[in-house]
Amino acid sequence: MPEASAGVTLLEGALVVTCDDALRTDYLTVAVAGAAIVAVAEPAAATSAFPGAERVDCAGRILLPGLVNAHLHPELQILKGAVEERSLHGWAEADHFDGALAVLDSDEGRELQRAAVRAALADCLLGGTTMVGVYGITRGANEIAAEELTGLGLRGEVTVRDITFGESAPAAVPCRYRLHAEEALTEEELRAAAGAHARGERLVMHAAETEHRLQLAVERFGTTTIRLLERYDLLSPRMLLSHAVHIDEGERELLARTGTPIVSSPTAELKLADGVAPVVDLVARGGVVALGTDAVVCNNSNDMFLEMRQLGLVQKLRYGAGALPAERILRVATRGGSRALGVSGTGAIAAGRAADLVLVDAGSSPLQPLIHRSEYSNVAANLVYSATGADVTDVMIGGEWRVRERRLRARDGSRQEAILEELGRAATHLYDRVL
Ligand SMILES: [Zn+2]
Repeated sequence: MPEASAGVTLLEGALVVTCDDALRTDYLTVAVAGAAIVAVAEPAAATSAFPGAERVDCAGRILLPGLVNAHLHPELQILKGAVEERSLHGWAEADHFDGALAVLDSDEGRELQRAAVRAALADCLLGGTTMVGVYGITRGANEIAAEELTGLGLRGEVTVRDITFGESAPAAVPCRYRLHAEEALTEEELRAAAGAHARGERLVMHAAETEHRLQLAVERFGTTTIRLLERYDLLSPRMLLSHAVHIDEGERELLARTGTPIVSSPTAELKLADGVAPVVDLVARGGVVALGTDAVVCNNSNDMFLEMRQLGLVQKLRYGAGALPAERILRVATRGGSRALGVSGTGAIAAGRAADLVLVDAGSSPLQPLIHRSEYSNVAANLVYSATGADVTDVMIGGEWRVRERRLRARDGSRQEAILEELGRAATHLYDRVL
């Protein structure tokens, strides 16, 4: 009955890395119908179960769940390389950086921000990211990001800053309130945040990123950042904490017990000399850990493959060479991100999950030699430590191809060449104003 398989697409021939509980890597066929994966099966079983389905040849490719970049400031894309050799707390002393932020915050900055946001999000998409936790800092950045996520066909969420934590702002994409960081917190804001949290709102905060910020919490509130949040009943799966570098064992236990997710951004944390987050310990305690690229000002890339590599390397430095196997890192970048952002139907290749899928060129030089046998496989290691976003060939989000053969297929028809031209024009205009 070929009719029974109408609307089903079979992705055939790829080496599939499921990132589900079984952590399976094998030559499997993935069947997609509408926005979801409907089956993951042995090739022969899939073709007989879905006669007449559309068949897509994915031979020579590795098929992964979409990567989740859980913490990104996309409007700062325009300022790549603008504040090198400075810690987070040294940014304010860079005159041209402060001037640039002032321009971005003004009405004139709106289209400059749009060029930056679109370029950052397109870069994410082309590199295999299917969901983004956007944290816009400058005025209007989150509204622009909501429009650009929709335009590109990327999954994601944005933030809203409202210190009264009023009723949820309507948005085209999911939204969470933000408590910026320790230096901006007040008792009044924490009380309002607690009220919003209690009525089910989702929140995000930069927490214990630097020793200085931790010290500010102690000086201003008499306790550490995580314990301060606990005092206001603000720890839960709905509170997303960015960085959480400086947290002691008791705080790690609290985060794990309350299911409070953290987003590690190891490249930024190294570059700003913040420190090394206790990711291995959090994972061992059953905590939810996701990965983010933060901002190109301190990364200087949106590439989640580079971020996975960095996470592995820096955790080895803190916990030893066997600390965080590559398979676990792949899960942090996929399932971890999905859990952290509270989107349960993504982050793994399994029947019933969203069809957020990425194809990687298994024949590219960084992936070679690629060996996969029952007794030995270097697939996960090559993906984490050798591949980059440039090896991604195709990206599907919710069953729609958004990248095909390394070309954007944005919902709004955006072309990568035009996006980069616009970014270049915007950056030139911005630097003409501030230098
Ligand atoms: Zn951040």
